[in-house]
Parts: sequence; C-alpha cells; structure tokens
Amino acid sequence: MGQVSADNFLAKAIDIPQLCEVINGIMERYSVFLGVNVVVVVINCLDEQCTTVIDNIKYEMRRFYPAIIDNDTLIKIEKFYNMRLFGGIFLPKIKTYESLLPAAHHVPVKEDDKLLILNLSHIGYDGNTKEFGSFVRHGHDSPTPACGAIKSCYDQILKGIKMPSDYDLRALTKYIKKIISIHNIKPKPLGHDLLEVTINLYNDQIPWLKQQLKKLAQKDEIDIIYMGGIEVDINKESDKDTHDKIVLMDKFIIQQNGDITDIS
Ligand SMILES: [Zn+2]
Repeated sequence: MGQVSADNFLAKAIDIPQLCEVINGIMERYSVFLGVNVVVVVINCLDEQCTTVIDNIKYEMRRFYPAIIDNDTLIKIEKFYNMRLFGGIFLPKIKTYESLLPAAHHVPVKEDDKLLILNLSHIGYDGNTKEFGSFVRHGHDSPTPACGAIKSCYDQILKGIKMPSDYDLRALTKYIKKIISIHNIKPKPLGHDLLEVTINLYNDQIPWLKQQLKKLAQKDEIDIIYMGGIEVDINKESDKDTHDKIVLMDKFIIQQNGDITDIS
C-alpha cells in the first residue's frame, strides 16, 4: 500500500469523543475495568501536542465513569504507562516486547489482567492550505512541523544530508529510507508524500509489533488489546480547542495462547 488518498484518509478521521466511544465499547466487550484489571499503555510521539491529545482523551473518558468524585479515584483510573517514541513508531527490529514488560507487570489484579495499548503516530494538517505536515499550534501565528521528527528525518533524506547522530533519530531515518524505497514514495505537493511516509511507517510496523506483542502475551500470560492509528493535528484557534482527529487503523486482541483476532 504505497499510494494513499488524502481525501480517503481524512474521511476516516473521527474526533476524540467518537474515539472514546470506540475505546469504551471495546473495554465493555472485553471486561476491561480502568483502575482494576488493566494497565493502559500509550505509545505516542514526544511532541507536546500528542500529550495534549492524550490528556483530552483521558478527560473525555471520564464521562463513562460518572461515579468519579475525587482526585484519588481519578489518579487510580488514569494510570498510564506512557512510551514516548519519535513519531510514535515502534521501530521494527529496534523496539522489542521487553520494553513493555514493566507495564504488563504493573496490572493491579493478576486475575484476568489485560494490557490496553493505544498507539498513535501523528501528522499535522493545515485546513487553510490543505497541506499535511504542519499545523498552527496554540499561540503561534504560523504553522510548525508535525510530526517534527518524521518530517525532519524525511527532509534530511530528500536533501541528502548525513544521518542524525542521535541513536533514536538515526534508527527512525533508516526506517523512513526503507519505507520510501519499498513503497516508491516520490515528492508530492501539499505534503501528500509525508502523509504516505507516515501511513506506511505506521502500517509497516504492525507485523513486527504483532509478533512482539504475541511474545509478551505468551510470556507474561496476559491478554493484549491493541488500538492504533494516526492522530491528525488540526490548527488551534485557542487552548480550549480539542478538534484533533484520529484515524483508527488497527484494532485487535492477542490472547495469552498467542491467538490474534481483529476487533470489528
Ligand atoms: Zn512527532
């Protein structure tokens, strides 16, 4: 899947309340209770915008817990294991299930324990120019790159500049180079090439991620529910603006015996 249509991509985008409906539906279906038998693992980018989106998801999820009355309860149900990776990408052959072992070990109840993983890469979208790869952040007058890490690595490849010396960025750059070659991605207007890079980066990590999560599920005897996709960062008119969108691309459960089933 090298070619992608920006219109199709945007058409699949849902907002945060809709995403929370999906998350809550899956939690009900698989008897996942926040603060009880689950650790929620968020794998996303280091960008502060991604932190904001996760905070907004947490806030929105509260409506499913009307009995929450105090901060102590909130802290209990909002416990997260946050893995910040450049681009939110679980790099094939670099990241392994071992980095998720602590999360699996921290589920409060050992009976019927589960990991719920939310994995989001991200891309900016400037609705005014219809361009992907940047958006206007709160307090800014002009757009700045998103994902900054993916975009800067991609731009360096296009310009033929030498690889970053930072280990993680270097690994991401190598992976992007591979994606460009496998999917024959060429420069395109309106950041459609960066959208192709981002979607394929996300998609191509999935077989590796599945394999690693399967090892974790079997080794730690824990069911793992995975939800993943791409966050679309939208221009901010104010700090109250929570109009960011999510394109959910994968939902599956891996059982302790290693069986993997897509969640419809
Ligand atoms: Zn980023």
